[in-house]
Amino acid sequence: MIAKRYEPFWKTTPLEKMSPVEWESICDGCGKCCLQKLQDDETEEVFYTNLSCHQLNIGSCQCKVYETRQDKVSTCITLTPDQVDEFHWLPDTCSYRVLYETKDLPNWHPLVVGSDKEMLRQGLTVRHYAVNENTVDEEEWETHVIKWVHGMPEPYDII
Ligand code: SF4
Ligand code: SF4
Repeated sequence: MIAKRYEPFWKTTPLEKMSPVEWESICDGCGKCCLQKLQDDETEEVFYTNLSCHQLNIGSCQCKVYETRQDKVSTCITLTPDQVDEFHWLPDTCSYRVLYETKDLPNWHPLVVGSDKEMLRQGLTVRHYAVNENTVDEEEWETHVIKWVHGMPEPYDII
């Protein structure tokens, strides 16, 4: 008898059909979406900075107010399955975007590895470079703009 090959849920279930628990587990916890962004008024292009929302615990990359985040931070966006085709503003390593675009998760993802150790080993979370937004004047934010290169931040001059 040939054993049936087990396929993990993210390979068989489209994002929009996942249960709430499955949906939440796709988030790899990188913290990148909690970095502040600037948007060009004319082109609407989005630029990431290395400045984190003041509610992000940078060391753990966890939101300090997750259950009430949208009451505490009006600009906080909750990702939902009905927006999957709008995920282009997320970093290109965001697991929701990756899964939507490539139909599979990367080999460093906690669901694949069983823990976040590979993400940490590769420096794929913001903990090594995020700076609390409250420590930088808003006039200076443009100097904190970054671009992603293979998932890592590099300074980016938009002026
Ligand atoms: S960028 Fe994507 S994977 Fe990373 S914390 Fe945000 S939602 Fe989760
Ligand atoms: S409130 Fe929490 S989830 Fe929302 S952007 Fe800030 S740290 Fe991230």
